[in-house]
Amino acid sequence: MTTEPRSRVCARFAAITPSATLAVDAKAKALKAQGRPVIGFGAGEPDFPTPDYIVEAALEAAKDPAMHRYTPAAGLPALREAIAAKTLRDSGYEVRPGDVLVTNGGKQAVFQAFAAILDPGDEAILPTPYWTTYPEVVKLAGATPVEVFAGADQDYKVTVEQLEAARTPRTKVLLHCSPSNPTGSVYTPEETIAIGRWALEHGIWVVTDEIYEHLVYEDAAPAHILALVPELADRTIVLNGVAKTYAMTGWRVGWMVGPTDVIKAATSFQSHLTSNVSNVAQRAALAAVSGPLDAVHEMRRAFDRRRRTMVTMLSEIQGLEVPTPKGAFYAFPSVEGILGKQIRGTVPTTSAQLADLILSEVEVAVVPSEAFGPSGYIRLSYALADEDLVEGVGRIRELLAEAR
Ligand code: PMP
Repeated sequence: MTTEPRSRVCARFAAITPSATLAVDAKAKALKAQGRPVIGFGAGEPDFPTPDYIVEAALEAAKDPAMHRYTPAAGLPALREAIAAKTLRDSGYEVRPGDVLVTNGGKQAVFQAFAAILDPGDEAILPTPYWTTYPEVVKLAGATPVEVFAGADQDYKVTVEQLEAARTPRTKVLLHCSPSNPTGSVYTPEETIAIGRWALEHGIWVVTDEIYEHLVYEDAAPAHILALVPELADRTIVLNGVAKTYAMTGWRVGWMVGPTDVIKAATSFQSHLTSNVSNVAQRAALAAVSGPLDAVHEMRRAFDRRRRTMVTMLSEIQGLEVPTPKGAFYAFPSVEGILGKQIRGTVPTTSAQLADLILSEVEVAVVPSEAFGPSGYIRLSYALADEDLVEGVGRIRELLAEAR
């Protein structure tokens, strides 16, 4: 009897695309390790420390023997209640604490949201450019990501007409992320309502990633789809977490809120995968979500100042198209006007090649948009010190001025 040769890694894992950010990141880190003055625009995290009162709550929790034990997989009851209260306060819709599942970062909530509702053969619509994790998670669930592209000319926001053109009988879910990583775009209430009504009309689920809800600038306001189209509640999963709002990326606390049956199924899954999130981190998150928003208002002021500096400086670079981001902490210029031109003896034709060139020539790390779907753009985080920002964008400007 012959046996089929079997690959060592399963097909599902083998199909996971390695993050395109990693190549740049690894190179930047290697240069830094050699003592080079690399400036990094890659980080997707606030550069502030976690506020003191949150850290204090964690210290207290670490001394509490009850926190040294397993706790319910879905999260500490007090935290689930506080998340429900915070959701009403910040987002304007009511959720039951029992419909909140506390996860290891927003990332686990992203995974579990898609894994809980997608079957093989289903399609998930991803407005593109998308955050790098979404398509991988959809594929792991055996489903197919369907990209709907919106470029700089439409402020990276998809329209209902585009969504409708992508809809098939297999469309199960639409991903909605506003403010957006990677583009910094924020959908207006009118746009959000139109998208919500379209999903409602066609029985399409919505996974709404609201992790940047407090980071909006100018006249933009976070438009929570469930506050605007409450009838969607039966088919909507809300993702959120403390990482960006409270400068807590390392603490790993996020959550998902959804219909009771979905949360129950996702909790069963999580009970096998990770059990409860670290109790110490949960108690820190409890202090965060039940406390004031002063710290995030302060961070937002700093981000806003840096955002304006970055947009002004990038806009002065010939060949870049720079829509003004209204949320999160990313600028996402189009570099299509630079590609195909010669810079210091090379001719980059993709944003990945350009990012590589920027790193090797002027020691500035940016994330090429291949990490988020299409080529032709770069993402720069403005969550870094003002003087580094000015220095880094200045170096890019000098380099790109040589493009012929
Ligand atoms: N969603 C989006 C859009 C993000 O940018 C991130 C972080 N990069 C997350 C979810 C996950 O955040 P975390 O796992 O750190 O809570």
